Amino acid sequence: MSLIRLLTYFVVGYLFWKFLKWLVAPAKKRGDSSGGNPGGKAMLLIKCNACGMFITESRALMVRGRAYCSTACAGTAANRA
Ligand SMILES: [Zn+2]
Repeated sequence: MSLIRLLTYFVVGYLFWKFLKWLVAPAKKRGDSSGGNPGGKAMLLIKCNACGMFITESRALMVRGRAYCSTACAGTAANRA
């Protein structure tokens, strides 16, 4: 009989664990939806092709597939080419 009691405890424990996970899961999903970044956009740094300064991807100026920190840099690079 002790084996059946042990099995019952195991099943009850398992169900209780599942219930706890179900309780915790929705709150966890809400926080981790953006990959642990509350700001949303990833702060990826890229190098300016003219002066070599590092700028965030969202602030970079893309000219013909190259990144520049400003219109001035994009202009000098275009003049050089
Ligand atoms: Zn630059």
